[in-house]
Amino acid sequence: MSVTENKESQRKKKKILKGIPVCPGIIIGKAHLFDRSKVKVFYQYLTSEEQVREEIERFKSAVKKTKHQIMELKSKMPEALKKHSFIIDTHLMMIEDSMITDSTIETIRHDRINAEWALQKSMDKIRELFEQVEDKYIRERINDVQDVVRRLMINLTGKEPENLSSLKERVIIVAHDLSPMDTSEIDTTKIMGFITDVGGKTSHTAIMSQALKIPAVLGLERAMKEINDGSLIIVDGNNGEVIVEPDEETIIQYHEKQERYEKYESYILRTSHLPAVTKDGYHITIKANIEFLEEVVMAKDHGAEGIGLYRTEFLYLRSKGVPSEKELYEDYRELAELIAPESVTIRTVDLGGDKFTSEIDLSEEINPAMGLRAIRFCLKQPEIFKSQLRAILRASSVGNNIKIMFPMISGIHEIIESKRILKEVMDELEEKGIPFNRNIPVGIMIEIPSAVTVSDLLARHVDFFSIGTNDLIQYALAIDRVNEHVAYMYQPFHPAIIRMLNQVVHSAKSNGIGVYICGEMAGDPLCIPLMLGLEIEELSMNPPNIPLMKNLIRSISMKEIKSVFHNIMELDTASKVKEFLIKTMLDWVPDFREKLIYE
Ligand code: PEP
Ligand code: MG
Repeated sequence: MSVTENKESQRKKKKILKGIPVCPGIIIGKAHLFDRSKVKVFYQYLTSEEQVREEIERFKSAVKKTKHQIMELKSKMPEALKKHSFIIDTHLMMIEDSMITDSTIETIRHDRINAEWALQKSMDKIRELFEQVEDKYIRERINDVQDVVRRLMINLTGKEPENLSSLKERVIIVAHDLSPMDTSEIDTTKIMGFITDVGGKTSHTAIMSQALKIPAVLGLERAMKEINDGSLIIVDGNNGEVIVEPDEETIIQYHEKQERYEKYESYILRTSHLPAVTKDGYHITIKANIEFLEEVVMAKDHGAEGIGLYRTEFLYLRSKGVPSEKELYEDYRELAELIAPESVTIRTVDLGGDKFTSEIDLSEEINPAMGLRAIRFCLKQPEIFKSQLRAILRASSVGNNIKIMFPMISGIHEIIESKRILKEVMDELEEKGIPFNRNIPVGIMIEIPSAVTVSDLLARHVDFFSIGTNDLIQYALAIDRVNEHVAYMYQPFHPAIIRMLNQVVHSAKSNGIGVYICGEMAGDPLCIPLMLGLEIEELSMNPPNIPLMKNLIRSISMKEIKSVFHNIMELDTASKVKEFLIKTMLDWVPDFREKLIYE
């Protein structure tokens, strides 16, 4: 075999797992397989009443000990995680649940079996019940129950549980899932990163990893099966890849990538606060898209000049139902305070489709993307809508830096109806003497083709447009944005999209209202000539994209852009547009490709 063939076969052998990147960074280290579930349980028949009584007492004291441990855990939570202590509270509630405690005691008494075996039976019953639940969110809460039962079982058997706080060396944690209790025990000096089989961008693990700034890739599905304890692995938290037992060439490659990333990161810290001003003085505001309050600090660190899109669904999904107005108000108020003097655009809830909770009455739909979601859902459930509007308005009085935005507007009727309800809420607040900003700017997302077509009419009713290119592309090209079979046809550079953007900008400017972009296109470096050429005033993107976008905008001039912009509008296919944009960026920024490495 020749050297090249040998290298080729090595490359082919390389095992790469693909997951969801939730916290950036590149790490190379030893895998530590973490599995709390390995507690062996033995069966024992109890022959006397005395044994039954003792067994019940033994179980009760294990419950007490477990409660004590959970409370201690809560009190020792690192400062960065204190806000998430409600998760631990739910665990405390679970241990007091009769399905666990009373049912186990009853089984010990009735079946005359040892506490471990009885607890196992209770857990089996609970699991069966959860499996019958249709709601995915509720079904997944079984993990929390399992975690509590596991801790209880460990206390019963007297075996020491594996503990993430007592690791001897620096490792990368590999787990099927990490419970909130696991992550709250993490010793950041020992844990380089973590990867799990389940979980996604909105999971507790994702929030924790971001709060602790530990690189993490979730949703890998087979990490526990594909990785051996002690194996060398590379975790690329930037693009969601995990390379198992990499060859030497790959290790060298990633060491270089890691070094570049670290240099890039420190460069970010030094330059991210500089504004995005072209060489000839045109300023474009760069803001951040966030989903949780906890992301504000990261957004600011990356140079965000405000929050251009606050996706508000998370609180509704997390609270197993409709969050209280108080809860929403506190969240929005804190966000407004944290981002002041810059502003935050709060998008009213985009629930529906696959994002719904058990307490909100939404039936499963065949075509959820086109179903009862976002503003349609809110207009059908005015009480839920009004409670969110009240919370936003009350928070608006703090620093007058909140804007409201309605998603999925398809035509005039929805904006008129939404504004009517908003006014009703304002009048109610006024009557009660509750302060709010009467002049709060009201905008809409332009993400449905019909809204593009009537954008000149819509512009008369609002203060700004924010173009949601993610949905706009999906609806304009009839390409489901989450369907991998048609992903190759999801084309941001399709001339139809470029023309739609042009039309929306024209409608906004001729009516004197603001026009912004908050879909993924806003953070795509290739779109810079397009967005500057269209004279978009504001781009809102995922925080990690901000420094590079600002840097690139600073290296080109508006005059250059204007000189080529008309050519873009003439191109007739997506690939020609893309080619043109690559060439243009390369002409202006010779090291453009190298800069894209972190994308
Ligand atoms: C969009 O559709 O472009 C958008 C920003 O909203 P979301 O991705 O939340 O649908
Ligand atoms: Mg959208």
